[in-house]
Amino acid sequence: MSTTECDAIIVGAGLAGLVAAAELVDAGKRITIVDQEPEATFGGQAWWSFGGLFLVDSPEQRRMGIRDSIELARQDWAGTAGFDRPEDDHARAWADAYLEWAAGEKRAWLKQKGIGLFPVVGWAERGGDTATRHGNSVPRFHIVWGTGPAILEPFIATVRRGVDAGLVTLLFRHRVDALTVADGRVVGVSGSILAPDSAERGAPSTREEVGAFALEASAVVMATGGIGGNHDLVRAAWPERLGTPPQHMVSGVPAHVDGRGLGIAEAAGARLINGDRMWHYVEGIQNHSPVWAQHGIRILPGPSSLWLDATGRRLPTPLFPGFDTLGTLAHLRMTGYDHSWFVTTQSIIEKEFALSGSEQNPDLTGRSPAAVERTNGTRAALHARRRRLHRRDHG
Ligand SMILES: Cc1cc2nc3c(=O)[nH]c(=O)nc-3n(C[C@H](O)[C@H](O)[C@H](O)COP(=O)(O)OP(=O)(O)OC[C@H]3O[C@@H](n4cnc5c(N)ncnc54)[C@H](O)[C@@H]3O)c2cc1C
Repeated sequence: MSTTECDAIIVGAGLAGLVAAAELVDAGKRITIVDQEPEATFGGQAWWSFGGLFLVDSPEQRRMGIRDSIELARQDWAGTAGFDRPEDDHARAWADAYLEWAAGEKRAWLKQKGIGLFPVVGWAERGGDTATRHGNSVPRFHIVWGTGPAILEPFIATVRRGVDAGLVTLLFRHRVDALTVADGRVVGVSGSILAPDSAERGAPSTREEVGAFALEASAVVMATGGIGGNHDLVRAAWPERLGTPPQHMVSGVPAHVDGRGLGIAEAAGARLINGDRMWHYVEGIQNHSPVWAQHGIRILPGPSSLWLDATGRRLPTPLFPGFDTLGTLAHLRMTGYDHSWFVTTQSIIEKEFALSGSEQNPDLTGRSPAAVERTNGTRAALHARRRRLHRRDHG
């Protein structure tokens, strides 16, 4: 068993762990990052992501004629979160702080890290009930130029610099199984060293144990991700308001998003809240080139497709594609079937569809001029639409 001391241990080398690590490196702290997966998976889920970021009243929105404000965003956030529990106090405070950041220094902070934004802002989760209920009243989905891998880039670079400077120790194939508690404080982690594995990024790796480890530090950051790769945990936490869990689910995240970290934190005394407030994308389909088991990918749909339940009935307003994923899920779960019908045409697909991942958008991910061409086309369509509306309103 090996024991190491440092200022902080970060469990999880996904985006959350890497951002924490980069901040600590910039502060000159000595840290150890442990991750159960091989180095090929460095960056976790974010590498697969489309890189949609929440910003409020940005230049990109203004350029598209979108009027946003922190007040509107706060109303949308509150309507979506539905804060109604005593333990929501922390979430409310966090939401306030995040909104201030998203409407303030976030864009400059991203820019300073070298993260650029695609000039067209998407409209994810429009909601559609009243203004004070669920959903974004305006488009706020800012796509990173280079998608998920480009978000990771600056943080990975800082961590690598930290390795070179002797500040960072990276321990892959180190799976944390317990937190060490002394005098009511978490003072370290312990776990198993897993056998080396040459699995490609995102693919499941062996759980064969070849050793044990223990680390101590004055701070421990748990950044182990969610539960989406563990359908048993998803089913166990499934709330009644969403009906019964489907028999068959696809998984938008790799198997390493196994949710174990939550149980490990709870066993050490952490108070877990809101396990039932889960998020699912109903517009999920089986990935055509799967990397992990039941690999799913989400369609980012525009509103024009026709959506029917399994019995052929049209979904009620406002459950249009891309408007209210949880409302749609609850509705579809009441039909007694696991499937629905998403009816579309080639021209709707060409105008409105995207798949929500880095690999499905190689032009954006590769920062190719073809993506800019796509934007110019979208911009031209937006201007044409604006001109049509202007003519309609002003004769
Ligand atoms: C296809 C796709 C598209 C997405 N699109 C968007 C988007 O447009 N906008 C957006 O905001 N979000 C998006 N997301 C979600 C976003 O990418 C994730 O929420 C985010 O990357 C999660 O980061 P994380 O660091 O919390 O967790 P993860 O990336 O899951 O990292 C956790 C790490 O912890 C490690 N770990 C877990 N348990 C242990 C343990 N016991 N011991 C050691 N290591 C452990 C794991 O191996 C993993 O490397 C998308 C995700 C996917 C998959």
